[in-house]
Amino acid sequence: MVERQLRGRGISSTEILSAFRQVPREVFIRGDLSHLAYGDHPLPIEAGQTISQPYIVALMIEAAELKAGDKVLEVGSGSGYAAAVMSRIAAQVIGVERCEELVNLARERMRRLGYDNVTIIEGDGTLGLTSEAPFDAILVAASGSHVPRSLTDQLAPRGRLVIPLGGPRSAQKLIRVSKGEDGSLQQSDLGGVRFVPLIGEEGWSDAQN
Ligand code: SAH
Repeated sequence: MVERQLRGRGISSTEILSAFRQVPREVFIRGDLSHLAYGDHPLPIEAGQTISQPYIVALMIEAAELKAGDKVLEVGSGSGYAAAVMSRIAAQVIGVERCEELVNLARERMRRLGYDNVTIIEGDGTLGLTSEAPFDAILVAASGSHVPRSLTDQLAPRGRLVIPLGGPRSAQKLIRVSKGEDGSLQQSDLGGVRFVPLIGEEGWSDAQN
């Protein structure tokens, strides 16, 4: 997976490649699908959600420029896989997930693997997590309607936010927002992607999906 799907597609950071090598992906996949864990595609997980294709997780981590020492927020931690990979690079990872079943599963997986620098919190991540802000990096794993103001507010100076934008049935693009030392924001487009919808106060409403 690491050689063909990640390095083969241009992911060259040794920190990122090493983090993927350390995390057993089958732990984060439903038992009946575990033989597909290292495939080059997203997979269904519990609660009708999906675990992203490994390459997309790598691309987002690369875009977020994760570094040792970073405090990271992941909105939509789902299975916990991306949070687990990021925890092998960053100092602390906090995942926010709206679905209770996924929160419990991800917590249990972190406990089993001994990843004690990951915390999973149940809630609406479109509002960020004021009590833990600021964050050096924020990654959003579901596609929003716009860049939530709470998330850019909770970025530290020189912080990076990576978020897919676009409706559940329309084209989506991956957006990177970086905050300057002076608090100014710069946005760039990283190209087309496909994610499940970001549902919450600063996202899509449940009824639209
Ligand atoms: N990074 C995850 C991807 C899970 S899919 C993984 O590695 O498995 C995206 C997740 O976002 C889903 O679990 C969904 O329940 C969650 N989600 C959607 N809107 C959310 C919101 N406003 N706050 C928190 N989680 C949300």
